[in-house]
Amino acid sequence: MTTKLAKRIGFCFGVRRAVSLAEAALKRDGEAHSLGSIIHNPQVVARLSKKGLKVADNVAAIKSGTVVVSSHGISPKISRSIKKRGLKLIDTTCPFVLNAQRIVRSLSGDGYKVIILGEARHPEVKALVDFASLDTIVVRDKSEASKLKISNNDYIGIISQTTQSTDNFLDVVETIRKKRPRELKIINTICKDVEERQRAARILAKKVDAMLIVGGKNSANTKRLFEICRKLQKNSHLVETEKEIARGWFKPNSIIGVTSGASTPDWLVKKVINAIREKGGCIING
Ligand code: SF4
Repeated sequence: MTTKLAKRIGFCFGVRRAVSLAEAALKRDGEAHSLGSIIHNPQVVARLSKKGLKVADNVAAIKSGTVVVSSHGISPKISRSIKKRGLKLIDTTCPFVLNAQRIVRSLSGDGYKVIILGEARHPEVKALVDFASLDTIVVRDKSEASKLKISNNDYIGIISQTTQSTDNFLDVVETIRKKRPRELKIINTICKDVEERQRAARILAKKVDAMLIVGGKNSANTKRLFEICRKLQKNSHLVETEKEIARGWFKPNSIIGVTSGASTPDWLVKKVINAIREKGGCIING
């Protein structure tokens, strides 16, 4: 068996920064709280928990100390309530997410109804919605977009959750454009790292007999990578750790492609690669 690695794997810039800010806070204060998961990778969260990170569901559950906000960002309301309670805020919101938040605020302030392509329940999208002064609409895909009622008096702005796929974004844009709003502002807020990762995974998935996508099953960008790979290679599998790899997925001469989500650390990818090596695979770059 041969293993090929995608051109972009391991932590993205935003997640690496969030984890290192959380680690610095833990080193300094001994313990800290995160609102929900600091990143969508259970193995990394478990490591940080051992260093003193406590996961809280809401601000009210945190009585004192430091609150580390994830790279997905938080709504201005929650940010205010953290400060009002006298808690120390460490905001690790990724600069690309901050940019999307600024765009939502500005479009909405200029009177545009903002359509956000994304998952309504994802923390990033929930926060984005709260940056708008007017009502926003969240759609998952072109099918949901096609059901929207848009008249030729409407001023519409479209942006995307940073981890969506470009194809999905373009499909939604085209669906809204055909409804002929009075004005349509399209701003692609998909993160470049995500686009690069998806492109590298697409290239690799076409060349291999099996694809392993390493990452948290609660991670939006990892799930998206998996969906992209599965369309091109039926024998694609999303695994959080090397323990989930099944021998039956590979044949003796299989070429196995490996990619990872943006919230997957290098050490988890290495464990997966080592597990394939133990099953008889050698490694070459994709
Ligand atoms: S995927 Fe992109 S937007 Fe999200 S944290 Fe990483 S660099 Fe930032």
